[in-house]
Amino acid sequence: MSSEELHKRRSTAVARGVGSVIPAYVDHASGGTITDVEGREWIDFAAGIAVTNVGNSAPKVVEAVRAQVERFTHTCFMVAPYESYVAVCEQLNALTPGDFEKRSALFNSGAEAVENAVKIARHATGRPAVVVFDHAYHGRTNLTMALTAKNMPYKHRFGPFAGEIYRVPMSYPLRDGGLDGTTAAARAIELVEKQVGAENVAALLIEPIQGEGGFVVPAEGFLPALRQWATATGVVFIADEIQTGFCRTGDWFACQHEGVEPDLITLAKGIAGGLPLAAVTGRAELMDAVHIGGLGGTYGGNPIACAGALAAIETMHELDLAAAARRIESVMGDRLRDIAARDPRIAEVRGRGAMLAVEIVQPGTLTPDPAATAAVSAACHAAGLLTLTCGTYGNVLRFLPPLVISDDELARGLDILDAAFG
Ligand SMILES: *Cc1c(COP(=O)(O)O)cnc(C)c1O
Repeated sequence: MSSEELHKRRSTAVARGVGSVIPAYVDHASGGTITDVEGREWIDFAAGIAVTNVGNSAPKVVEAVRAQVERFTHTCFMVAPYESYVAVCEQLNALTPGDFEKRSALFNSGAEAVENAVKIARHATGRPAVVVFDHAYHGRTNLTMALTAKNMPYKHRFGPFAGEIYRVPMSYPLRDGGLDGTTAAARAIELVEKQVGAENVAALLIEPIQGEGGFVVPAEGFLPALRQWATATGVVFIADEIQTGFCRTGDWFACQHEGVEPDLITLAKGIAGGLPLAAVTGRAELMDAVHIGGLGGTYGGNPIACAGALAAIETMHELDLAAAARRIESVMGDRLRDIAARDPRIAEVRGRGAMLAVEIVQPGTLTPDPAATAAVSAACHAAGLLTLTCGTYGNVLRFLPPLVISDDELARGLDILDAAFG
């Protein structure tokens, strides 16, 4: 069946609210490419939104999942527990930043992990408020819509939203006049202290590099200053590393770049080679504050997803995918700066590791140009490169290749991108 025929079927079966970036339907995918039902191939600069860091159908993941499917598919960890859930938690406790006693709990999606991190922080502190940032993205459930900044398409007409969420300015060097990190943090902190009161704040929730909001990298010193304030005021510092985690930014987690140790970390996307799994990992005294039975969910830490996660993490170690991300940064970064040097629409090349982006504006201004961004992205799709856009203004073209992409695939993808800019 052709993609066109599948699209017709879809339009009478699948809810319109669920969109897709390309109109082609996937037949199979590998470490760096996606092939549709008609045999057309795309070089993958999306990785299913930073999920397939180890590639699609990574050999170890396939083997582990196959073996698990044959043993058992589901018992519910809250009913009859199993080893792989415990093993994933042990791995996350060891891998995440901070040399202190930790505990983890497993869930199904990033949004669910964020919801649970907020539940845990509120329960442990007995405080109601949550501080979030401009351009933040934390998910699409009711609480996480409230935590997310952007109205269209995430929140529009989906309210009313959960209360006690307070939004403060992010450090966004391109758009805040290059404010240094400590000054930008002081600006956010002052707002919280004057408008909310630190003693009412359960948690400060932040993406160390923003994902959907535009791959915004805060100025150096911003995260450490917020971390310091949270420590001084008893606020739980939650790092949402759902997009940045698992080697994506050239380290296991993006917080490590500035030596920041979160109290709680939310994880999903890259965790399990494409299987649906999410986690909250953090300080034992916070995690264990919650009464028995207070956390959980029917599918959370499903054994097949846990098998996938253990195999994916092993693959990340074995292939040193953090180093691979740094290699991608060096090759792709050079190429993006070359393009930016000749194209005045590119206001900035930014990001870290294999999480890079260009912000596109009207030349000579900071006025966002979402139309040009969409046009370049569409030209990439037509020429066989899968790219994504993001950003509050829809004017950021982002690149998230699988970390196992071959040098040849990476080079071919960058050639297509180069040509798409004209
Ligand atoms: C994708 C994402 C989420 C939501 O994850 P889902 O699995 O889609 O619910 C939350 N936070 C960040 C930073 C994300 O990138």
